[in-house]
Amino acid sequence: MSNCLFCKIIAGDISADKIYEDDDVLAFHDIGAQAPHHFLVIPKKHISTLNDVDDAALVGKLTLTASQIAKDFGFAENGYRVVMNCNEQGGQTVYHIHLHCLGGRQLTWPPG
Ligand code: AMP
Ligand code: ZN
Repeated sequence: MSNCLFCKIIAGDISADKIYEDDDVLAFHDIGAQAPHHFLVIPKKHISTLNDVDDAALVGKLTLTASQIAKDFGFAENGYRVVMNCNEQGGQTVYHIHLHCLGGRQLTWPPG
């Protein structure tokens, strides 16, 4: 989608600090990190919100990509959080679905 920030990152029109990429997904560091480790995993296919998802395998791949990167970065055993914000009250600001993965510090609950 031409006016989507994350589609522009996928296309290479906007730079990002990439971690992992394959035919289906892209992972990159969040520009506004909320933890020592904070990266996003996105599908290469544009999907606006979690409410629009009908591909269980793709969402599973986002999750497994996050856990694999957490293992590779060495913070999986200590623990981390994965979350997908949906729409305004969920705190979503970029309307191309993305899984946040945060780790490297003690995370609190509820998140607020
Ligand atoms: P959300 O509020 O769940 O939609 O999350 C959007 C996330 O995208 C925020 O955590 C932002 O810091 C992050 N973000 C926005 N622009 C960029 C960018 N150009 N590169 C990396 N992360 C970004
Ligand atoms: Zn998009």
